[in-house]
Amino acid sequence: MADYDVLVIGGGHNGLTAAAYLARAGKRVLVLEARDRVGGALAHAPLGESEAPYGFATVDNFHPSVVQDLGLQGHGLVTREGSGTLVLGADEPLWLATGNAAASLGADDARGLSELQRLVDVAGKALEPLLSDALPSVTPNSLSDFFELAVAGLRVRRVGKRDLPEVMRLLPMTLRDLLEEHVSDPRLQAAIAGPALHGTWLGPWSAGGGYALLHHRPAWRSDLLAPPRFVEGGPEALVGALEKAARKAGATIRTESAVSRILVQHGQTTGVRLASGESLEAGAILSACDPTTTLVDLLEPGWLSPETRRAARTVRYRATVATARFELAAIPDLPVAEAREARIQIGASLVSLEQAFDPAKYGEVPAAPTVELTFHPSSSGTVAHAWVQHVAAGAVADEQGRGDTLAAINATIETALPGFANQVQAAELSTAIDFERDLGLRGGHLYHGELGMDQILYMRPTPGMYDHTTPIQGLYLGGPGTHPGGGITGLPGKLGAERILDT
Ligand SMILES: Cc1cc2nc3c(=O)[nH]c(=O)nc-3n(C[C@H](O)[C@H](O)[C@H](O)COP(=O)(O)OP(=O)(O)OC[C@H]3O[C@@H](n4cnc5c(N)ncnc54)[C@H](O)[C@@H]3O)c2cc1C
Repeated sequence: MADYDVLVIGGGHNGLTAAAYLARAGKRVLVLEARDRVGGALAHAPLGESEAPYGFATVDNFHPSVVQDLGLQGHGLVTREGSGTLVLGADEPLWLATGNAAASLGADDARGLSELQRLVDVAGKALEPLLSDALPSVTPNSLSDFFELAVAGLRVRRVGKRDLPEVMRLLPMTLRDLLEEHVSDPRLQAAIAGPALHGTWLGPWSAGGGYALLHHRPAWRSDLLAPPRFVEGGPEALVGALEKAARKAGATIRTESAVSRILVQHGQTTGVRLASGESLEAGAILSACDPTTTLVDLLEPGWLSPETRRAARTVRYRATVATARFELAAIPDLPVAEAREARIQIGASLVSLEQAFDPAKYGEVPAAPTVELTFHPSSSGTVAHAWVQHVAAGAVADEQGRGDTLAAINATIETALPGFANQVQAAELSTAIDFERDLGLRGGHLYHGELGMDQILYMRPTPGMYDHTTPIQGLYLGGPGTHPGGGITGLPGKLGAERILDT
């Protein structure tokens, strides 16, 4: 008998989610994590005297079904909604309070925002079976496959004659075209577009912005101005809750156990070999690593067709996100006091967001980067986490580049929030190069692959490999490089586990 029913490669939040679902269903599960701690991109890292969130600092779209199924609140998960969004960088700040943004807007923009929200809600609900569930099979061969297809079709049809063309048109649209049709305040346009661009190789003038908006404002949290969602204890506390859920269900978790080979016999996985040389046997393997690592680096060569291998090798991972973390003596004075608990976006028009993207196309760093700032309590006081949308990693490979980039981020924040620099006790820049080295993110890409129109839905991770299975029997994918893509949702891990349980 094999050592385990399922080996999960990678103890990021998706790997842990998958392990918990599988173990709850009675499978003997072992999670193998290369690093000395689980959590992947959600793990914290040292900053000055304290530890602070490293990659992303909030947990905005974690799927409620995962919280409920795994009983994460019972395992210590506590979240709280931020107070709103503050947009800086224009002559006047714009404060958009949670649930009451209209109070800060003119009548036309309030009406336009409400109409756009309605459209996004309709589209999100209609497309939910495609955007966040397992995709219906395009080659249905069982009654349940046909049923899933029919349900998806019916949901889309129910949108109705008036909205259907609008919904279909939304997906490929640029954010600029979409937003300019509905609202006119450049600060409001920027507040909606900023989060929609996360993890994409897009500016607001790029095609596919509508899809990116629906991805980041999904049916279960579709508020176009959704505030950040904080986790008590930071994102690592979500990891702690997932770990507890997985262990309680019976899963075993091993850190410092990098997998170096996925073993195959007669087209069927038999187990893995670790970097230490140890071999482990299992009936199935779920990889929560990116698809290229799984299918090209880890899989024994010779089992994939040249076309499949080429497709897996050419998944795009162009990363432009950087973070700057600041240990602060105190939070500086803010134009709106409630913004201490908000997302502060510095970048107040679609033009400024596009201009921040332009240099990334040419491997350069913008002089005025778009920055999203949140404040977090830490053991030494307060940490400011700056999420910077477009910094081409190549331009910050050396000390000079890093220094210039951090200076540009500092200057952008100081201009918008005078007095910020005086509070800084320690500062650290992290770019795609650091994320690749420290977190194992291929190309430093936070979503294990770009969310381009050719790398989503039935094409994620590669055309046709959309259902979390692979051409190798017993090898499954459950990371954000698979459907429904990146972000802290837990869904790829959940869907990958459900696929194993279905077969
Ligand atoms: C800079 C940055 C910005 C982000 N921005 C956002 C955002 O805007 N919105 C949002 O929702 N989320 C954001 N995130 C979070 C991120 O998108 C998610 O955490 C992501 O989807 C990764 O989830 P994961 O757990 O599946 O994979 P990972 O967190 O990448 O975990 C994979 C795990 O596999 C392990 N591993 C790799 N190779 C091996 C091997 N050979 N053997 C064993 N283990 C291995 C790794 O060590 C790692 O722990 C951001 C992250 C970063 C770093």
